[in-house]
Amino acid sequence: LAKNDIDYVQMQQLMLKRIQEDTRATQGSTGVAQISPSVMMAMEKVQRHRFVPQRYDEYSYDNRPLPIGNGQTISQPFIVALMTELLNLEKTDKVLEVGTGSGYQAAILAELVGQVYTIEIIQTLADQAAETLANLNYENVKVKLGDGYRGWPSEAPFDAIIVTAAATEIPPPLLQQLKAGGRMIIPLGEQNEVQQLKLITKAESGEITISEVLAVRFVPLTGDH
Ligand code: SAM
Repeated sequence: LAKNDIDYVQMQQLMLKRIQEDTRATQGSTGVAQISPSVMMAMEKVQRHRFVPQRYDEYSYDNRPLPIGNGQTISQPFIVALMTELLNLEKTDKVLEVGTGSGYQAAILAELVGQVYTIEIIQTLADQAAETLANLNYENVKVKLGDGYRGWPSEAPFDAIIVTAAATEIPPPLLQQLKAGGRMIIPLGEQNEVQQLKLITKAESGEITISEVLAVRFVPLTGDH
């Protein structure tokens, strides 16, 4: 290992510790006592510095969002872990992500499930993320340029859907593309303010249940939908 790699590993270990600390601190609101071993293993396997712009390299493992260009961000590691945890993923799941950004969350998902579909509305980011994911040999992630509000009808239905930009309402196409028995995690609320992270479950009967998880701050879901 080069000196740099040792630094990354040490910083990452600290990041993993912070994730569990934040999880314990927010348990009253989220109901999550700790992030499960499988999700923590994915957080350990994926090197966040591969998804962070060079100029922020030294902050790669800080437990906070970082700029990725085009006014967008890579999300806070704790939030990535929490959202992933709440999806309660199984190996055979097919997952849709709206808001590819850097591709980091998609890589975490790809460590846990069979197939990940992710949509990004900004061309540069979609291209960059696809390149990063290809360089890291993630063959089970498909990146698409487009408005994720509409979902990915040709690949629906999905076992789980994760939206990583703030919406003012649950996009009806996404709800439609969620399998019976499926779960969706999405920040909902006014844009440029604090939103509520919501967990939505679709029962086998089709009945929808919505629960509040945590106050969060995400960049807005854009597009002309
Ligand atoms: N999940 C990302 C990661 O791991 O780096 C972080 C996502 S960032 C907080 C939100 C992303 O959603 C931005 O890249 C933004 O361009 C994208 N976005 C916003 N509106 C969108 C839409 N309607 N469809 C698809 N992507 C959208």
